[in-house]
Amino acid sequence: MTKACHAMVITPHPDDAEYGIAGTAARWAREGKDVIYVVCTNGNKGTNDPEMAPEKLAEIREKEQLAACNLLGVNEVIFLRHDDQALEDTPEFRKEIVRLLRIHRPEIVVTSDPYRRYIWHRDHRIAGRVVLDAVFPYARDRLAYPDLMEQGIMPHKVKEVLLWGAEQPNHFSDITETFEVKMAALRCHHTQVGHFPPKWLDLIKKRHETLAEGKGFALAEAFHRVELWW
Ligand SMILES: [Zn+2]
Repeated sequence: MTKACHAMVITPHPDDAEYGIAGTAARWAREGKDVIYVVCTNGNKGTNDPEMAPEKLAEIREKEQLAACNLLGVNEVIFLRHDDQALEDTPEFRKEIVRLLRIHRPEIVVTSDPYRRYIWHRDHRIAGRVVLDAVFPYARDRLAYPDLMEQGIMPHKVKEVLLWGAEQPNHFSDITETFEVKMAALRCHHTQVGHFPPKWLDLIKKRHETLAEGKGFALAEAFHRVELWW
């Protein structure tokens, strides 16, 4: 039951990971590395359309996420289906993440930086913090969940965490070759980006150019990277 994957991308909402990591995820996939997405909420509050029902929106957003992942070459998408704007730092949510980390055994875990100050979606803050706690100590320690051990779901040591949305990035990933597929994946999220003006594309490109300045490549995604010491 335990097959190791290269990276597990744990995203609060459908679409966050496309902004944060999709270029890098597509590069990993092209290199033949396994990438798994875990989508924490169903995004059922992400609309201004008075005609849109939350259940319908959740359904559409799963399809949008699957279409995006298909373009990127992501191997598997796991939907946890929590309500949008309702993530909490609970023992149940933490264990849900630990269980997935232990089953899929990623070398790298990618999520939202919980330490972005002031205006930051509550789900982004909580998902990021819960994932960091899940990586250490809960996924690592044998005695954290005896019941998981009894099911054969053994402890796991993640080697590296990448946090998108970081105010203090210390790791810049080359997405020059995969920028176009990242943008195509973002455009799969019609309910979120369908109404954006065409200028939006230029703004995103400019941001990735700025992040790559002085790095020796044209376009970058930026992360705060945490290497684990074990
Ligand atoms: Zn989000």
